[in-house]
Amino acid sequence: MAIIDQIASRRFYGRELVIASHNSGKVREVRELLRPFVVKAHAAKDLNLQEPDETGSTFAANAELKARAATNGSGLPALADDSGLEVFSLARAPGIYSARWAGGAKDFDSAMRRVEKQLEGITDRRAAFVCALSLAWPDGHVETVEAVAKGNVVWPPRGKAGFGYDPIFVPNGYNTTFGEMEPKIKHRISHRTKAFNKLVLSCFPSRI
Ligand code: IMP
Repeated sequence: MAIIDQIASRRFYGRELVIASHNSGKVREVRELLRPFVVKAHAAKDLNLQEPDETGSTFAANAELKARAATNGSGLPALADDSGLEVFSLARAPGIYSARWAGGAKDFDSAMRRVEKQLEGITDRRAAFVCALSLAWPDGHVETVEAVAKGNVVWPPRGKAGFGYDPIFVPNGYNTTFGEMEPKIKHRISHRTKAFNKLVLSCFPSRI
């Protein structure tokens, strides 16, 4: 099955694509990951592309709709990320609503406090960051992969590196939060890197 999937995957031979995100933290991380594979990675904002409503009920569905919107709007292949934090004791919330918990002002201090408030009195603090990546081509073809990084939620928040919920997430096998880690350490183990490595295997194999 896996082998058939690999054969069925579409290879990416282009030199440029669009990163279909308006989140500067994500654009920075994805651009870094793409560096060995594409010459020019445009940010959606720089091409004045609109952000579509995230109407999907899964990370994969939202990644796909964002990638399709960006490829349709730009005429270039587009790579979209949909990601978030799943806290096991909170029925996997905030999950696909991770960005929305921070509101229009993108107030992640408040979103992190909301997670902590809901965990009050609960000892099981296991959580996972999930990342779905979709690569869409202008002819309608889409490849989607997903990966997780498991860990625990801690309180209070620690560290100023990274973005979003990084200061309250300690990945398994580490004592530091993603917010305290040097970016290159986070990049080695993050959900986004793991998903990206899967995408490389399916779509950029000749470039490894
Ligand atoms: P969306 O994929 O645009 O819906 O946003 C996902 C949200 O999940 C982000 O705004 C962050 O709050 C959170 N998130 C996703 N990946 C990370 C990460 O690597 N670190 C911290 N927060 C993240």
